[in-house]
Amino acid sequence: TGRDTEGPGGTNGTESASETLFERIIAREIPADIVYETDTTLAFRDISPQASTHVLVVPKARHRTVADLAAADPGLLAEVVATAAKVAELEGLHDGYRIVFNTGPDAGQTVFHVHAHVLGGEQLGHFGR
Ligand code: C5P
Repeated sequence: TGRDTEGPGGTNGTESASETLFERIIAREIPADIVYETDTTLAFRDISPQASTHVLVVPKARHRTVADLAAADPGLLAEVVATAAKVAELEGLHDGYRIVFNTGPDAGQTVFHVHAHVLGGEQLGHFGR
């Protein structure tokens, strides 16, 4: 598709060209507990789970935030969401789940390679601090 040829940093955002942790997971340079993969997306368990099920879904191509991804490649954003739904099915989250995209520092985004948090497996609290 050509989507994966952009390389680290790509043309998205102003961060340095250095790889984020998630590029290294995608490249299998750092181990991760991978639960599902497509040509364009990867799903792996969060190392510090905040719910019974807590899986991260990333596009293999690097975009800093979900807003950047939506602007640059809306089809790929749809693939990230479809992978999240597949993960929920595989994890048995039949009663629902939450998809969270922390966007920017005030939201606590720490890794600037867009990732969907897929949370479920229990009754989740509502929004707040
Ligand atoms: O939304 P935010 O950028 O804070 O999410 C980053 C997530 O990456 C955190 O939930 C953190 O636990 C997770 N992480 C991970 N494996 C690492 C480092 C961070 O799953 N090696």
